[in-house]
Amino acid sequence: MSSFPNQGNYNNYPSGGRGGFKNQRGGFGRGRGGDQGSGRGRGHSDYRPRRDDRNKPQGNQKLCKFFQQGICNKPNCGFVHKYSYNDSITGVQRFTVNAPIASAVVINEEQIAVALVNGSIKIINVYTGSQVLEFPVSGQIQKLYYTANIVINNMPQNFNYLLFGGVSQDGSQLLGGINTQSGNPELFPQGHAGGITDITESCGLIFTGSLDCSVGVWYYNGTQYNFGTLIRPDPSIINQNFITSVKVIGETLLAATNLGYVIGWTYDFKQNSASYLGVLDPIHNGTANCLITFDRYVLSGGQDGRVLCWDSENNFSGWELANTGKARSEISSLLIMSNLRNELHLLLGDANGKIHIFALQGTEAKYISPVHLFKQRVTSLSSYINNSQRISGFVSTSMDQAAAIMQWIK
Ligand SMILES: [Zn+2]
Repeated sequence: MSSFPNQGNYNNYPSGGRGGFKNQRGGFGRGRGGDQGSGRGRGHSDYRPRRDDRNKPQGNQKLCKFFQQGICNKPNCGFVHKYSYNDSITGVQRFTVNAPIASAVVINEEQIAVALVNGSIKIINVYTGSQVLEFPVSGQIQKLYYTANIVINNMPQNFNYLLFGGVSQDGSQLLGGINTQSGNPELFPQGHAGGITDITESCGLIFTGSLDCSVGVWYYNGTQYNFGTLIRPDPSIINQNFITSVKVIGETLLAATNLGYVIGWTYDFKQNSASYLGVLDPIHNGTANCLITFDRYVLSGGQDGRVLCWDSENNFSGWELANTGKARSEISSLLIMSNLRNELHLLLGDANGKIHIFALQGTEAKYISPVHLFKQRVTSLSSYINNSQRISGFVSTSMDQAAAIMQWIK
């Protein structure tokens, strides 16, 4: 049995001056912080929000009484804004848009991309919170993926793709990419019989999860992305299921489903063929919403408020790593990253707008604090590392039309 690796994902983004959508030069890739790693833990977390402490002043500083869900409606109030009980994080930037945000990715230190459910993709300047560019897409976007960390032999190195997936207006596949050099949204050929729910990448291939309960494989032919194949689970799984999330760890392709399963295939990257492995144990009660990989581990967050974890180097043996306590709030997004002391943390975004922070210590996930940032579902969590400004934190987005960039302060 292993424990959590004593290191985080302090991968570097290119510094703010290089690349980005504004100058259209691209080449701002490399070093996206991967969601990798995890460890062995027992199921029960220490969930004790000390509500009584919330409004007590600390020292000489008085806490702001108007600060709720990450917002203070008193301009220049001067009081302390407390995000979490142990003051481990604080706000860097917060901005609102005109529709619920479905997904976000970090482009570089200066830019993040957010996808609105109404089909708008906005490039936002992190420092100002203002919009740099906007790309309208016809349909409902569910997921973004940025290809900065993809090395493909036949892909020119001076640009990347901001991939988007979702449901087109007629209910079919919406899948495409914005070339950072040309700045034009390009649609992929049709491959799925339904909308896209998730996008990931491995060994230069793009994998997509779909409402048609298959995983699509896509490759770059030197000019554009082409459709490769569809991978389907065992027929007994397909009934009433769709894929909610997809990830690759080593040579295992994994997909989460709306009926709570996490299913796997062995993927042969030489033959480009998949062989079905089956369903991982345990399973969620209700939808398995999100998958992440970290180091040798796979984590799944569910509608049942539980985080399930599997060890890919120990025959995918699985266990419950954490949960959202008695309330069992539905988990909608997951992130593992380190704080400033290089201590690993697990962040769970829930369907009520809260982010629950756990410390990963040895084989345990210990509950630290909830952070109230939003009123509605947290739709994405991504690490945000800014070396030039010495910021280490994360981007979170919500269905309540807002995004917040937070940083660790201790
Ligand atoms: Zn205030």
